[in-house]
Amino acid sequence: MIAAKGYAAQTAESPLAPWQFERRDIGAHDVQIEILYCGVCHTDIHLIRNEWFPGIFPMVPGHEIVGRISAVGAHAKKFAIGDLGGVGVMVDSCRECQDCKNGQEQFCTVAPVQTYNNLGHDGLPVYGGYSNTIIVNEDFVHHISDKLDLAGVAPLLCAGITTYSPLKRWNVGKGHKLAVVGLGGLGHMAVKFGNALGAEVTVLSTSPGKQEAAMQLGASHFIISRDEAQMKTAFKTFDFVLDTVSGNSDVNPYLSILKTNGIYVNVGMPAKPWEVSSFSLATGNKVIAGSGAGGLPETQQMLDFCAEHGIVSDIELIDIKDIHAAYDRMQKGDVRYRFVIDMKTL
Ligand code: NAP
Repeated sequence: MIAAKGYAAQTAESPLAPWQFERRDIGAHDVQIEILYCGVCHTDIHLIRNEWFPGIFPMVPGHEIVGRISAVGAHAKKFAIGDLGGVGVMVDSCRECQDCKNGQEQFCTVAPVQTYNNLGHDGLPVYGGYSNTIIVNEDFVHHISDKLDLAGVAPLLCAGITTYSPLKRWNVGKGHKLAVVGLGGLGHMAVKFGNALGAEVTVLSTSPGKQEAAMQLGASHFIISRDEAQMKTAFKTFDFVLDTVSGNSDVNPYLSILKTNGIYVNVGMPAKPWEVSSFSLATGNKVIAGSGAGGLPETQQMLDFCAEHGIVSDIELIDIKDIHAAYDRMQKGDVRYRFVIDMKTL
């Protein structure tokens, strides 16, 4: 086993704190990564607090990982020692089910392994990126361009792919009006991608103070989502709504701003189920869709797209001991626009 250190929650009630633990030995097809940066996703908060379902504790969160390859398994061919590597929301899958064959390994039917809060194929718990090192099968490690700011690349591994994937799937682009709901980690990436793909982007936010930044990120318009008058002026305006909201909110107003035949895509995962009025859907033939992260080929495609277009996340780089303050600010919607942990501070 390989000695590792990180920050873990020992129970759903206890705060994150330093923890020494062991990772598995490097298998023939594994690589070891010395983690440089790890983004802080709202999912980390949902999971360590058991907001969705009971978790596996101790839990080391973190699934937006960028680092350097420090060791390579006997049969691993994809990376050399010293290369950059990135890991997102998953670290293994069966490779044989239809989803894996389709390049949608995140939905593997047989043996999916999330980056943390899961058991590996060896039956042992896996631990995430709030840590100095990680061992991952090379197939689940992505190539990272050395042209981009590495701290800003880390959030691409989850916030990036989770917003890029639905925009590509629904062919969002030139001539489309796209509304992005919630300007946090996912939302700000959706603005950047929507803009890069040629759509006209409007941000719907509960935070008036984010207006200027939304414009700088590439939005053309900004709407306060809790202002009924502003929402009324947006009635039947958008081809697509991409909802990235982490907290409980009423989605019916977001359906009202779609044009006829418009598509609402949800990626936010609030704990409470929604109530959707059948009238909100039937009137105007609305489509409600979901989207979960992205598969291996599309994640690499997204990273390459970012390298080509100079896209990274706008981040606040933090010391790992400030993680609690970061979580508190995220709970209040006060995030600009992704916290990233500098792993040198571990
Ligand atoms: P985040 O950085 O905390 O941003 C969420 C934003 O949502 C906030 O900044 C705020 O934006 C808005 N918001 C929060 N509570 C709200 C409420 N009650 N009503 C209206 N707006 C609210 O979170 P994130 O990391 O982007 O993650 C967003 C959600 O996506 C989380 O639930 C996360 O678990 C989920 N997620 C899903 C996937 C997937 O595969 N589908 C992947 C990653 C994350 P404003 O201040 O602009 O209003």
